Parts: sequence; C-alpha cells; structure tokens
Amino acid sequence: MICKYSTILFLAIPLSLLNIAHAQSILGFTAAHATRETAVEEKFKSIPTPAEERRQHRIFTQEPHVAGSKRNNELAEYIRDEWKKQGLEDVIIRRYDVYGTNPKSASLEMIAPTHYQAVLRETPLPGDGDSKNPAISGAWLGMSISGEVTAPVVYAHSGNPEDYDLLRKNGISVKGKIVLVRYSNPYSYRGFKALTAQREGAAAMLVYSDPQEDGYKKGKVDPDGPWGPEYKIQRGAITYDFIVPGDPQTPGWASIPGAKRIPIEQAASAPKIMALPLSWHDAKPLLENLDGPIAPDSWQGGLGFPYRLGGEKEKVHLEIEMDNGLQPYYVVEGRIRGAELPDEWVVLGNHRDAWVFGGVDPSSGTASMMELTRALGELKKQGMRPRRTLVICSWDGEEVGLTGSTEWGEQFADELRAKAVAYINVDEATSGPNFHGQAVASLAPMLEETTRTLQDPSGKSLYDAWRETTAREKAEARSGPFDSGAVNSSLADTRIGSGSDHTVFLNFVGVPVIGLGFEGDYGVYHSGYDDFYWMNHFGDPGYKYHTLMSQLWGVTALRLANADLLPFDFATYANNVRQFVNELTSKNNSVILSGGEAGAKDPTKGCATCGASGTAPKPLDLVDIQKAIDNFESAGKKLNQSLTRKLAAGPIDAKLAVTLNHGMMQVERTWLNPDGIPGRPWFKHILYGARFTYAHLELPGLTEAVEAQDWPTAKQQAEILERALESNTRLLNQLNSALNP
Ligand SMILES: [Zn+2]
Repeated sequence: MICKYSTILFLAIPLSLLNIAHAQSILGFTAAHATRETAVEEKFKSIPTPAEERRQHRIFTQEPHVAGSKRNNELAEYIRDEWKKQGLEDVIIRRYDVYGTNPKSASLEMIAPTHYQAVLRETPLPGDGDSKNPAISGAWLGMSISGEVTAPVVYAHSGNPEDYDLLRKNGISVKGKIVLVRYSNPYSYRGFKALTAQREGAAAMLVYSDPQEDGYKKGKVDPDGPWGPEYKIQRGAITYDFIVPGDPQTPGWASIPGAKRIPIEQAASAPKIMALPLSWHDAKPLLENLDGPIAPDSWQGGLGFPYRLGGEKEKVHLEIEMDNGLQPYYVVEGRIRGAELPDEWVVLGNHRDAWVFGGVDPSSGTASMMELTRALGELKKQGMRPRRTLVICSWDGEEVGLTGSTEWGEQFADELRAKAVAYINVDEATSGPNFHGQAVASLAPMLEETTRTLQDPSGKSLYDAWRETTAREKAEARSGPFDSGAVNSSLADTRIGSGSDHTVFLNFVGVPVIGLGFEGDYGVYHSGYDDFYWMNHFGDPGYKYHTLMSQLWGVTALRLANADLLPFDFATYANNVRQFVNELTSKNNSVILSGGEAGAKDPTKGCATCGASGTAPKPLDLVDIQKAIDNFESAGKKLNQSLTRKLAAGPIDAKLAVTLNHGMMQVERTWLNPDGIPGRPWFKHILYGARFTYAHLELPGLTEAVEAQDWPTAKQQAEILERALESNTRLLNQLNSALNP
C-alpha cells in the first residue's frame, strides 16, 4: 500500500547546492573518501541483474501471501535463509502477536427491484496462468466486522463527508442503509470512507472501482493493457490507522509476548462497520437499478448510464463472515554490521505481505530488496563493509495497518532514537518508468545528488529522467504544455503523509525518511491481477527498473552509511518549513504572517486601512515563527558552510565527527512533540502528518487547529513549533561552534 493521493508539491532546492556534485565530490565526504565511495558504489551497482530480479519476483509472486498466511510466513523463512546465504548478519525473525483479519465468507444479493447475485470473485484472464489459481481470495476488506443486513442502497459517490451533505440536501438519509461508494474521484483512503459511513449511521459500505478511475475509460485493460478489467476487485484494509497504526489492541507499545492488550471494542483504529469491495461488474446492476434523483454531474461515472442517488426501492441482502482475532505476524531483520560506527544505523525496509500475489505491491519492492541484499553481501565478502550498520527489514501486515513496522518501531523506539540515521522505504518499487523520490527536506539534496550517479534505462541519468517526469507531471497538473525547462532543481517530494512503513520511523520515533518508487499506468492495484504476468507485460518487462531500484536504494544507503559527516542540509529544511507556514497563512486569512499587517494585529493601535468600523485582530500571529525560521535557516546555512570547509580540508577528527553526526541526528527527533498532535497522540511529528483521507498534512497540529478555528489550540501548537525551531537553531549553533572553536 502506498498513499495514492496525487497532490504533490515540490520543494525548490537552490541550484548552488546541487552543482557541487561534480566528479568525486559527494555531499558529506572528504575528497579521499569520496574517491573510495565512488569505487564502492561502482562495484555495488555492477551486481544486481534483471535476470535475478525476475527470478526473485517470480518466487514472491508464485502464490497469494496475505499477512498471517502460511505462504507469507514461509516467505519470511525464505528471506531469512537467503539473507544468511548472502552474508547478512544477525538475521532473525521477530514475532508479534497482533489482532489480524481474514475472510471466511461473503455474499451479496439484490432482492428488489430485481434479483442479482454478486460474483465477488475475479475471473481468470487468457494468457495469465496465475489468474486461475484457486487460492485467490474473493472480495473482502481487512478489518470489516462480521454481520448480516437487508437494507436499501444509497449511492454516496466517494463516501466523503461532503457527499453525505449533498445526500441530506436531497432528503436522503443513510441510517441503517447500505452505502455504495467508489474508490476515487477524488481519492480518499477506504478506511476514511468506512469511518465516515460508520459515523453517518450506515449499516454497511460497499466500495467499487469505477472504469472511469482505473478501467477501460483510461485505456486497454488487462490482459491487453495495464488498466483494471471488468472483474477486478480492489481489496484493502479499512483500519483506522490514521488515528493510530499498528496492532489495534496495543496502541503505542509493541505486541511482544506478555504485552497488555486493550479490548477490541475500545480500540480506536478498529472499524465498527461491515464493508465489502466490488468489481464494476458487480456494482453495475446495483447502480443501474437505483431510483431517486439523478446524481450530480461530478458523481457520474464510466458505466454508460445515469447514476442515481437511490435510497428506497432497491434492496440488498449482505452477509459477511470474518475471522478476526489474535495471530502472529513476522518481521525478518538482518544487518551488515558497521566496520567503524556499528551503533549508527541506516535502516531499510519493504513489506512482504500482499493482498494476493502483489506483483507491484509489494513484490516488486521485495525482489529489489533481495538483489540489494545480495549486492551488499557481495561487497562485504570483498572486504567492503560499510562504516555504519545497515539494518534491513521485511515487514509483515503493512497492508492491514502498517502493523509489522509499527510494532518493530515501538519495540526498538529507544534504540532507534539513539542510533538511527535515516530510514529508506520501498513499498511498490515498480509499476512503470516514472521515478518518484520522497524525502524529508534535510535529505532532499543528497537524494537528488545520488540520482545523478545512476543511469535510467532511457539512457539518461536518473536525475535527468526524474526532471523530465517532474516537468511533465507539473505541466499535466496545470494542463499546460510540456516544458522541461520549467523545472529548475525541485525534484524531491517533501510532502510526506502516511500509507506505508516509513510512518513509525518519522511520526513516532523522529527518524528522517526517504521513500523511493517508479510509477506508471496501474489499474490492478490490490487485485488478483497484480501479478507476475502484469509486471512482465506492462509494469517492467525486462526488469530494468527493478534493477535500477536495487542500485538506487543501495547507493543511497551506502552514502548515508559511509559519509564522514552526515549529508543533512538544514538550510533546505528551514526553507521547506517556511513554505509550509506560508501555505497555511495563504489558505487561512485568519492567520497573520508578515509584520506589514501589524496594525491589524494590535487592537490598541487601530488600523488605518480598516475603515471606520475597524477590523478585528487576527486571531493567530505567526510573526515570531517566521523569525524563528529565519534564525534556523541562517544557522543551517552557517553549518553547511562550515561542514563544506571542514570536508575540503581533509580527514576529520573522529571525536568531532561523532559530536557533529549525533548532533545532526538529533534535529529530526526535536520535531517530535511527546504529547502528539491534538487528538492523535501517537503521531508526534509537528511538521509531517496525514489527514484521515491519507493526504499528506503539513504542520498537522497547527493546521488542523487553524482549520477548526480553535485559536487556543492553534496558539499552543504554534508555540510548540516555535520552541522546536529555537531548540534546533541552538543545536546547529552549538555544532557550528564545535567546528569553529
Ligand atoms: Zn504496499
């Protein structure tokens, strides 16, 4: 699972920072060590092969392997055994006993105005042998409750709160009824749709894939193209992990043996509603037979008849039986111990569990991980052990509620706070050729620099390919013409929401994160058709992007593991925080930012431009925050200069390096508020969060308070941000003093 939200904004990184990436100059390295690093990277990049990527991908896509299943657990053992053979160290399988979810049976029958028995299964596709596998599950959603209901059907569009407002305006209540919603238009996480339906008092939610979103309206469908065919079912969990991820019964602590467990009835992330996904084949008769008013234009879809709101004559009988309860999930962990700084960790991870075969999600990432670890093992055998420790994890139950990574992160939170340099996540490695790189802003320059040293299958550098993708997507977003010159150096996406295994690292522990993926047209997400056939015909025939992912993932990790001084750029971070604050103020005119409006701020001074009646003071003043950002930025710039000078001057004193690196590691931790954001204490990061829809949400505590016009909370959240900025400024100034005694 990854966040499918498409609102991506990009960070402008000063050109000056990127132009220093000429031969044998690498951010964070002395000249001599950059030369050595380049040699290590060249060796590393030569190891992964498309043939091996494909072979590994076949192993992981051979059978369905949902979280908790026998096959998924066998794959954990397979990874463990392979890693040992490859030369990884301290390989161990960690067990977490969590509240799992499995389907028993489901049936859906329209009983009025006409009879229709839903298929609830995906039919085999010609040429795709795997699609005949009898082990492919039917329609189900993780964490649905069991139950039975006969009730009228209401079409509730995307199932977001504003959709129910429109229904109310039309006099349609959904209380006790079955709501039929679609996945996108606009996209929101299915768990948010379920929570919304639950809050509205619906008896059940059916969610279907409209061909307009990912089917024949987009292009050729599987097996002739990458889009979703008639019987495609998008499975998925409806867990309310935007409130708290991981095992619902151990919110905030690890599900290790003997752990306290809260009753499932009290678990905030456990849904209390029945829910089932449908193919458009099964949704069509339900939509066609609805009565009531015609739905608005924006609610219409691709099925070729007018969609109505329904609510009265059409009745459906729905029965779902689930097998939810305690079961073990397994995280596989291995490492290459650092030669010089074993207690500084660079952590890498990918989830193993898939809704069915997981051709893209996540087996493309798992195949890339297996080639990455083979190459790392090979380097070690040739005497090229990294300076810092690389920890590599195969997560379980990501699809259910980011479960395995969350439990692991909660278990090792103290150790991670002391040791973790960064976490690099790969979920869906490859669904096409378009690179997307995410990073906290302090690591954006190093990620961009890294892509300059890799070659895209198009023949260009990965950096140039990334630039073109970004330019094209920005142009498409504006519906303007393609102009590759429109992009300067703003490539890394620094808007980081939730939806994958980086969440516990960033939001709970305060570890800087990077996320990597190649994307393309992909209409079979979370279905039985996301398989080996799809990858070999559409996603990555030839496995070149899988190979590139192994190379990129590894080189990024090696740079972080081998750097003399960690390649963080806090001036860039400051600039990014300023953008976040500017966006908040530009969207909310109750918030004052610049000193120029100070007349309105101070009610005792009156206001020359406010007219005779005067204007009420702005309820929130962020001028002090602006100053704090300026100070943080200038401290970051000074530190950048000092670090560059120091690295240029030759070998770095080991004790000084430890002081500097541990200081820089501390910056991300400082962004955490131990109390969490209001209402969601698990999510502690004050710069990054996610909305309930899964959309990224910057300055989450402050933004939500401003949007709710809760000014006391907004002021308190602003103070927390200001204090964190001040702490980090002090920290950077201390590091700068250590560099310039
Ligand atoms: Zn995934």
